Amino acid sequence: MRKKCLDCGDPISGRTDKKFCTDMCRNAYHNKYNGYRNAMIRYVNHKLRKNRHILAELSKAKTTELTREELSFNGYDWQYFTEERLQNSLVNRFCYDYGIEIGDDELVRVIPRALKGTRKSHDPVNLVAAEAMGKYEPAKAAD
Ligand SMILES: [Zn+2]
Repeated sequence: MRKKCLDCGDPISGRTDKKFCTDMCRNAYHNKYNGYRNAMIRYVNHKLRKNRHILAELSKAKTTELTREELSFNGYDWQYFTEERLQNSLVNRFCYDYGIEIGDDELVRVIPRALKGTRKSHDPVNLVAAEAMGKYEPAKAAD
């Protein structure tokens, strides 16, 4: 069976490892792939920035306690976040420097990334740096 061009589907003649019938088809194929990839990255970045913006705006309000419904109503997309942590058995989800603490009930609390009283050295980025310098040993998981 003759191989077909990945772009146009025409049969390929010549070397057996060829994937495209012409350079034009190869370029067209890669442009389509890169276009899709770039569009996907732009889409996810947009979603993350929008979520961050919503949390930043809401955290300016006097009360940062909301219901899940209110957050959704503001346009928050629950599928997109940059980091998830478990803090005092509550799930914290961040979009860059703003996050939400998700309670057992319908309530969600908006939280800034650097909580008051949190030492700078506890920041994961700083921990990685400290580890690299041999100043920090990650906790071993208990058996
Ligand atoms: Zn082709």
